[in-house]
Amino acid sequence: MSRLIKGLGVSEGLGHGNLLIVKPDVTPVESFIENMEEEISKLETALSTGLFELEHIYNSKLETLGQDKAQIFQAHMMILQDPEWIKSIKTLIEEKKVSAEYAVHLSAEETAEMFENMDNEYFRERAHDIRDVARRIIRLVRGEEASDLGSANPGTIVAAIDLTPSDTAQLNAKNIIGIITAIGGKTSHSAIIARTMGIPAVMGIGKDNFDSLITKSEVIVNGFKGEIILEPNQAQIDQTQIEIKRIEEEKESLKALIGSPSLTATGRQIELAANIASPNDLKRVLENDADGIGLFRSEFLFMDRNSAPSEDEQYESYKIVLEKMDGKPVIIRTMDIGGDKEVPYLNMPEEMNPFLGYRAIRYCLNEPDVFKTQIRALLRAGVHGNLKIMLPMISNVKEIRDTKAIIETVKKDLASEKISFDDHVPLGIMIEIPAAAIASDILAKEVDFFSIGTNDLIQYTVAVDRMNESIADLYTAYHPAVLRLIQMSIKNGHEAGIWVGMCGSVAGDLNLMPVLLGMGLDEFSMSPANLLKARRRAKEINETEIKVDLDRILSLSTAEEVEFEIKKL
Ligand code: PEP
Ligand code: MG
Repeated sequence: MSRLIKGLGVSEGLGHGNLLIVKPDVTPVESFIENMEEEISKLETALSTGLFELEHIYNSKLETLGQDKAQIFQAHMMILQDPEWIKSIKTLIEEKKVSAEYAVHLSAEETAEMFENMDNEYFRERAHDIRDVARRIIRLVRGEEASDLGSANPGTIVAAIDLTPSDTAQLNAKNIIGIITAIGGKTSHSAIIARTMGIPAVMGIGKDNFDSLITKSEVIVNGFKGEIILEPNQAQIDQTQIEIKRIEEEKESLKALIGSPSLTATGRQIELAANIASPNDLKRVLENDADGIGLFRSEFLFMDRNSAPSEDEQYESYKIVLEKMDGKPVIIRTMDIGGDKEVPYLNMPEEMNPFLGYRAIRYCLNEPDVFKTQIRALLRAGVHGNLKIMLPMISNVKEIRDTKAIIETVKKDLASEKISFDDHVPLGIMIEIPAAAIASDILAKEVDFFSIGTNDLIQYTVAVDRMNESIADLYTAYHPAVLRLIQMSIKNGHEAGIWVGMCGSVAGDLNLMPVLLGMGLDEFSMSPANLLKARRRAKEINETEIKVDLDRILSLSTAEEVEFEIKKL
């Protein structure tokens, strides 16, 4: 019997295929064994299979992503072969008569905790790797299959509690046609990746619903409606296939817009730009004819690795993007670590409220060496194209002035080292904190542009954690307070003579496009997959007519009324 499960549609599209469940880790519990030889032999088989798996992953990563991303698996191979560690696991089995999986867990935890307590940052980072390797061996001792996302069969739909950055790094968009997660909202980092890769995704279905997937194999993912259908019947499959065909045909017809300018019905030129997380996303950006990059989330370069990328590595990544965009504007945001974007090797403290905590510009200004390295790489890369630098999570003027002082120091250093760099890179800020929107008249005097980050602006304005699916219905840009803050930021930006864009998910909401154009928004930055639809929609909108209607829309009482009214525009 088919079963419908509701979640949040975070990446549009439809997929029908077979489930691949990424199983949550179950921590081994203490259990005693009778047959020691059998446990040791299970351990030895697991170690050699583990080594084989790691060699395989290392070689394929080396080929596709290069040594920097692959080296982590080389380090894992060394840990797995460490004779001291293997000896300590065997001793536990022999002397304490515990199961192999518990012995691996116990000995890995002991070593990891020892590393965690060291002063040296490099050693502290190794704790993470040891636990990772232990998880692999435990899985193999248990005889569980790997959820190998990299070599999934065509037509696979991945389901997980949540996808970690290393899971998403392995996703192969050709074969993965849908994503389902138990937790996470529209702006979680896995949702962002799903949208950038154009994979339909439904998130936040809840842990109980996730458990019920485990015994099922076939599923339909509907990223438009935020629904999945387990074990669909023939009529549902036929209906989905018809829809998938229609979507494909629409994609084909949109291609006619490639090469045409992004104009509204009145002929006003706007910029329809793309959000990216790494140079790997450029293919989709170019295929969809973006007018520029409105947000390069540079923190993704720092994720899923063991240490921060060097200045040269960062420089190379920025340079590729600038060169490939061939003179079109490229906004690179300095790293926005924290919130839901964890980077274990930076050893940031655990916090009660990570989204309100030590993150983004707050971290960078407190760690000037890390920040300076990024600024150096950016200014050097600036000579290869049309670069603009953007600062995340700005809440006050001081943060901008402190950053400017750092940029000036970096420029002086580069000049005295005779290294070429771009001396005139425009500096902008994200407007994603209500304080910044309310004080946008003051902030606008300090910078060259604004980009409104609605993902955070909504969560802070209505006080709704963007990751919490149980209150997701309160998380909406249609709340009059959010719309008023957006309008205020655009107006204040324009009055100070700077342009204003938007790079949060709302920029890709075509229902809101008339309102945003009526407010005068200059640039919309979104997932590459939405760009051509946005170009088609913009052509239908007469922003001068909307402008006169704005007061009425902004004084509607509820988000529901706003939604109802804007759908008529
Ligand atoms: C935002 O907050 O709207 C934004 C674009 O930044 P991020 O989603 O990376 O926090
Ligand atoms: Mg943000």
